[in-house]
Amino acid sequence: MREDICTIPVSDVFEVNDGCPICRMYDMLQTRAVDYITGAAMMEPDVRVVTNKKGFCGTHLYKMVKEKSGLSLALMLQTHIENLGEDLFGKGDKDGKIAADRLSSCFLCEKINWGMERMIETIYITYENDKDFRGMFDGQPTFCLPHYSLLLSGIKKSRLKKYSSEFRSSLKKITQNQLSELNSDLLHFCSMFDYRNRGGDWGNSKTAIERTLSFRNGYEQEK
Ligand SMILES: [Zn+2]
Ligand SMILES: [Zn+2]
Repeated sequence: MREDICTIPVSDVFEVNDGCPICRMYDMLQTRAVDYITGAAMMEPDVRVVTNKKGFCGTHLYKMVKEKSGLSLALMLQTHIENLGEDLFGKGDKDGKIAADRLSSCFLCEKINWGMERMIETIYITYENDKDFRGMFDGQPTFCLPHYSLLLSGIKKSRLKKYSSEFRSSLKKITQNQLSELNSDLLHFCSMFDYRNRGGDWGNSKTAIERTLSFRNGYEQEK
């Protein structure tokens, strides 16, 4: 897979202010990867060699079927299934180790994760070197908790130096503010079930449950 499919300029992701930017990044990479594999790559012999071995997870296979069904997908699946059959039933897989190994890989997950790692590295580097990017990062409305944890735990090994503590405190501040806001919205939501508040204003609390799920577990889980 060409590298440019798995890389997007980080400023393209951060110039938007809508939800978690890392979820948005994942979503962009995933869309590109699915477009790539359901396009001409589907019939390329060198790609086929890899997809025969790695296959696809359920999430990505369903996404591919949505994009493109029919002959080319059937051809790709046929050679993959044939290849699986040889390993699963032709190699004496007594304890299921081969099956477990073969069923745990996904061609698209690997490409997306590769792209995510590169882009996360680029975020740290760009934060260190680019004032405008620091402004975009600091202006984000939220980071979901899985991506908050990912970014926070990566700081130590990253190439952030001078701006390391600024990055950390900005990330923490944004995430903590979002957590407090959700906490109050959930409290407000619950209070609206009290008969004394009948007819009151729900305000932002109407969407508190959905927003909490996205914040707690990451937006890509929804799709
Ligand atoms: Zn996220
Ligand atoms: Zn996958």
